[in-house]
Amino acid sequence: MLTIRRDLVDAMVAHARRDHPDEACGVLAGPAGSGRPERCIEMTNAERSPNFYRFDSMEDIRLERELDSRGEERVVIYHSHTATEAYPSRTDVNIAGYPEAHYVLISTRDPDAHELRSYRIIDGEVTEEPVEVVESYMFSHTGADDVPDAP
Ligand SMILES: [Zn+2]
Repeated sequence: MLTIRRDLVDAMVAHARRDHPDEACGVLAGPAGSGRPERCIEMTNAERSPNFYRFDSMEDIRLERELDSRGEERVVIYHSHTATEAYPSRTDVNIAGYPEAHYVLISTRDPDAHELRSYRIIDGEVTEEPVEVVESYMFSHTGADDVPDAP
């Protein structure tokens, strides 16, 4: 399950619409180990292609350093599909190197309604997961383990 703030969904969709008909790509970073995306970092699609995405390698190195220094990680790795459904392509699966990350795909093939879906991609295996969009993480569901014991 991916729990994600609405403003981050809006940021990804706006980026995807802006770069259409090329694929847009980027990262939602959050505190390491939290599973909680906090900020959107738009990346350059080095392919500038309607069919593929690949992070610009220099940008990717800079991002990695920045995340390390802030104690963050790639909680979400997103990209858009501009003519097909929001499902990972064979190439997407081959380049998916972050088993801890949520892979979000946004389809912009319909100009009026976007499609957004999230996946885990581990060892070449794609598993779709539910997406819960919340206004704020403060009010989102927390498991029993997250509730502190009464004194
Ligand atoms: Zn793709």
